[in-house]
Amino acid sequence: SLDRTAAIQEARLALPILAEEQVIMEAINENQVVVICGETGSGKTTQVPQFLYEAGYARHGMVGVTEPRRVAAVNMSKRVAVEMNLPTSKVSYQIRYDNNVTEDTCIKFMTDGVLAREMKADFLLTKYSVLILDEAHERTANTDLLIGLLSRVVPMRNKRGKPLKLIIMSATLRVEDFTKNERLFKTPPPVLKIETRQFPVTVHFSKRTPQEDTEDGTRFAYLDEAYKKICKIHRTLPAGGILVFVTGKQEVHALKRKLSNTFPTEMQLNRQLNNNEQISVILTVKDEEKLPSINLDKYKPTPDEDEDEDFDVKPTEDLLLSEDEDQSDSELWMDDSAYSSDADHTLPMRVLPLYAMLPAHKQKLVFEPVPTGFRQCVIATNVAETSLTIPGVKYVVDTGKVKRRVYDKTTGVSTFRIGWVSKASANQRAGRAGRTEAGHTYRLFSSAVFQDFEDFDLPEISSKPVAGLVLQMKSMNIDRVVNFPFPTPPSHKALEGAEELLTSLGAIEKPPRNLTVAELKKGKFLSELGRLIASFPVHPRYGKMIAVAINNERKLLEYVITIVAALTVKRLVLPVYFYKEATERLKEKQRHLAARLQHMKVLWCTGGGPQRRLLGDPMVYMGAIGAAEFAGATPSYCANNCLRPKAIIEVRKLRSQLTNLVNKIQPECELELNPKMNPPNDTQVKHLRQIILSAMPDRVARRIPTDELPKEEAKNALLENPIFIHPESILSRDPLPFFLVFQEVMETREGKKTYMRDITEIE
Ligand code: ADP
Ligand code: MG
Repeated sequence: SLDRTAAIQEARLALPILAEEQVIMEAINENQVVVICGETGSGKTTQVPQFLYEAGYARHGMVGVTEPRRVAAVNMSKRVAVEMNLPTSKVSYQIRYDNNVTEDTCIKFMTDGVLAREMKADFLLTKYSVLILDEAHERTANTDLLIGLLSRVVPMRNKRGKPLKLIIMSATLRVEDFTKNERLFKTPPPVLKIETRQFPVTVHFSKRTPQEDTEDGTRFAYLDEAYKKICKIHRTLPAGGILVFVTGKQEVHALKRKLSNTFPTEMQLNRQLNNNEQISVILTVKDEEKLPSINLDKYKPTPDEDEDEDFDVKPTEDLLLSEDEDQSDSELWMDDSAYSSDADHTLPMRVLPLYAMLPAHKQKLVFEPVPTGFRQCVIATNVAETSLTIPGVKYVVDTGKVKRRVYDKTTGVSTFRIGWVSKASANQRAGRAGRTEAGHTYRLFSSAVFQDFEDFDLPEISSKPVAGLVLQMKSMNIDRVVNFPFPTPPSHKALEGAEELLTSLGAIEKPPRNLTVAELKKGKFLSELGRLIASFPVHPRYGKMIAVAINNERKLLEYVITIVAALTVKRLVLPVYFYKEATERLKEKQRHLAARLQHMKVLWCTGGGPQRRLLGDPMVYMGAIGAAEFAGATPSYCANNCLRPKAIIEVRKLRSQLTNLVNKIQPECELELNPKMNPPNDTQVKHLRQIILSAMPDRVARRIPTDELPKEEAKNALLENPIFIHPESILSRDPLPFFLVFQEVMETREGKKTYMRDITEIE
C-alpha cells in the first residue's frame, strides 16, 4: 500500500473527488465504460489513477492516461508520482520525443497521439488494464479517434476474457457526443458528476468592445483594456488573485512587462532592499535583461531563457501535422511608453505568466503562497481555462479572445487567427473566479457581442484536414472511414480532400478489378507505398519523402530524414525582433544580430556548391542543424545564431527516431545516426529537390514577373489572391525563383497578404 506524506494526504482530502472514490470505483467495476465529469481542479487527473492503483487495477497491466498536451502528460505523471510517493520508474510518461517508461511502470501518462500509434502495433492494447482518456472535452482529433477505436476494443477484450476498462474524463458536462451516440456505445455509459463548490460570480460586461487592431496591426486594443482593468482592480478592489486570459505567449509577456513596470514586483523590492537602488534605475536595467537571447556580448544562459524558446499551442502528436504558433506574426505589442507615468510604487504585485509550454518549474509558481502585501496576477492563455487550476482567484479579466489554427476548406492552407471564444469557453473562464469565494469576472466586450459568440467550439476533427488520420486508419485496416464511429464525423469535404491528397501521394489506390462487391465498397486501398508512408510518425507528405528515398535514393536518406525532422519540428531559425521603444544601444545589437542571422543563413545554404541555394529553406535548416551539431548545440551557439535550442534537441531526437524506424523496416539500409553529417553535393541537392516536389505536388507556385502583369483592370481579376515569398525565406532575395514548391502558406495578422514559407526552387 501507499505511503503518502501527511501534507499530501491533507491536500487530497480537500479535493471534491475524494468523497466520490467509492461511487467512482463501483461504477468502474460494474461498467466497461464510464464517463467522469468534474470542474477543473476537482481532482480527476491526479486522483482517478490513484484510485485505480489502490483498487488493484495496475497489478495485471498498466493504467494508461492520455492527455492532449505534452506538458500535461509530463507534469501530471510527476505530480502523481509525488503524491503516491512512488519513483518515476513506476509512474511514468511517454511523449513523442521523450519517455521515462520502465519495465516497472504501472501508471503511464502519454499524449493521445502516442496511444493512437501504439494501437498500430497492438490493436487490443494488451499491456493495459484501464485506459483513461483525459480532457475529452477538448475534442482533439486524436482523442476523438481513440474514443472511436476503443469503443470497439473494449468489447473485443471482454470476449477474450481480459477486460479493458475505459474511462472518459471531461471538465464540462457536454458529453452527449459520447453518451448519446448509439454507433459508439450501444448501451450509454454512466456519467458521474463530481460536485464542486462554486461560489457566485458576478459577470460584468464592458459597455463597448475595443476596436480590433490599430492601423499597423501590431497593437491590440484588448490588451490595453486588460491592462487598464487590472490596474483598476489592483488599485480599488479588496484582496484576491487576478486571472487574465489572453491569446498567446507573446501577449502574456507583453502584459507582464507592462504590469511589472507599473507595480513593484518581488524581485524589484528585493533588489531595492539589498542594493538601495532606485526603482527607476532598476526598470531601465530590467528592460534589457528581458532580451537575453539577442544580447551578443555577454550571453549567459539563465533559467529565464527557456521562456522564449517555446510556443504556446498544444502540439498535436504524430498522426497529424504538428502545430506551432506562428511566432513571427504574433510579436510586438510593445508600446510601453505610457506607463512610467502610471507607475505606482506602493502596490506590490506578483505577476506570473502561464501558458502551455512554459517550463514546469515556472508553471509551479502559481501554486506557491503569495507573499504578504502582494496581490497575485496570473496572465494566462486558455490553458488556465480547464487544464490547470490556479488557487485564490477572485477576479477574472477575460479578453474573450483565443488563438486558433484555421484551415482553408479548399486549399487546406492554415493560419493562426485570433477570434472570439465560444460562449462555453467564456463561461468556463468566468467560473474560475468563484472557486474559493464569491468573485467577479470582467468581460472586455459587450453583452451584445457575446450574444454573437458560437455556443461551443467545434471539435478539431470537423475543422481540420484529416489526411494523416485517414492514412493511419487505413493502415489499421479500417478501410471504410465513412462508417467509423467517430463521436463527431469529419465532413465529407474533408474526407474527400484527404483522399485526394493520399491518392496524389500514391498512398492509396483504386481497388483491383477482381474483388467482391463487399470488398469494393471499402473504397480505395492502402498501397504498398502507403503502408511504408504510414509507418513514419510524421505527416503523410513527409512520410512520402522518406519512402521515396528508401525506394530510390538510399544515399540521401540521412538528408531527407533531417529535412523531415526540421519541417516537422518547425521554427528552428527564429527571426530577430525589433522592439520599438528599445534603447539605441539595444537597437544596435538587434541590427547586428539580424545582419549576422542573414549572413549565417547564406552560409548554411551555400558553401559547397551553387546548387545548394536552390534547395532553399530546407537547405538552410540542414546547414543550421549540421553547424549546431558540430558546435555541440550549445545554448550560446543557438542564441548567437537565432536557433531555438529546444527545436535543435527535438530535431535530434526525431532524426534518431526516424533513423531507427528506417533500419527496422528496411535493415539493408544500414543507416547510421551521425548528427554531424557532411553537406550534400550538387547532384544530391538536385535529387533532394525532386523528392520534396514529390511530396508537395499541390504546393507549387509560379512567379509572375512584373512585365507580364496584366493592365490595372485585369490585374484584380487575375490576381485576386497573389501569394508572396515570406521575407524570412532565403529565396526571398534576388535571384527569385520562377517555379517553386512551398511547405505552408500563412496570412498576415490582418489577412492582407498571404505568404509562402519554406521554399524550394524547381525547374
Ligand atoms: P482536474 O484534473 O479535475 O482538473 P487535478 O487532478 O489536475 O484536477 O488537480 C487537483 C488539485 O491538485 C488542484 O487543486 C491543483 O491545484 C493541484 N495540483 C495539481 N498539480 C499540482 C502541482 N504540481 N503542485 C501542487 N498542486 C497541484
Ligand atoms: Mg485534469
